[in-house]
Amino acid sequence: MKHTSPESVFFESEAIRIEIPVHRDRRFRSLRLGFDRNGRFSITVPPGISHANIERFLQDHSRWIRTRIRRYESQTSSLPAAGWIPYKGRTLRICLIPGIHRLSIQPQGDCFFISGIIDSSEGLASCIKSWLKQEASRELSRLVDVFSLEMGVRCRRLSIRDQKSRWGSCSSRKTVSLNWKLILLDPKLCHYVVLHELAHLIHLNHSRDFWAFLRTYCPDAHDTRRVLRNHAYLLNRFSIENQLSGFELIPEMP
Ligand SMILES: [Zn+2]
Repeated sequence: MKHTSPESVFFESEAIRIEIPVHRDRRFRSLRLGFDRNGRFSITVPPGISHANIERFLQDHSRWIRTRIRRYESQTSSLPAAGWIPYKGRTLRICLIPGIHRLSIQPQGDCFFISGIIDSSEGLASCIKSWLKQEASRELSRLVDVFSLEMGVRCRRLSIRDQKSRWGSCSSRKTVSLNWKLILLDPKLCHYVVLHELAHLIHLNHSRDFWAFLRTYCPDAHDTRRVLRNHAYLLNRFSIENQLSGFELIPEMP
């Protein structure tokens, strides 16, 4: 796939897998790795540096990266974890920060911070779910716009749905439906589903021509499809309510 979405690289080491955004800046002569107080890494590189070189640089600094992660985790681990949720292919710890404001949500580093008035686990679940759906809707609309342009297709209507059995579909009326749970998956898998459904705007079948067209934009379509099958549980069994089910709110002391 061409790099239409913002550039990023993956750093993988032992149990760690993090996505690091890449900024290209012609004022830089060397690579610079940064880590902010919200637990996020970023890397700034001169324009011509290849992905392989960036990845090698990250491996050379793997000890530095791991130390930053460990320190960040020890700072945030004093917060109680209310459960875990998958988000963009990573597993984030739900951290609650009780407060007097309306609930607000912010994924940072390896945590999914929720702050504000937390009065019931049902309220919490519905808040997380609506936040994820909103994120999904924003991200999927953006991807449909970017990829449609690239593929030269036109989708008449995009609908974000909550199907239990499919990630997406495309109708002869040129309506593309996408599942909000795509936001839980690794962006690569999510991009594949969007490209797949958009390719149906040209070929409304799974013919040889369909796959050839799709592979122009997603060369590893077949492998990605196979990987996607391993995530079927997110479609039919996963729910935010279940993720929080073992969690009970501790009543505040008078
Ligand atoms: Zn299909």
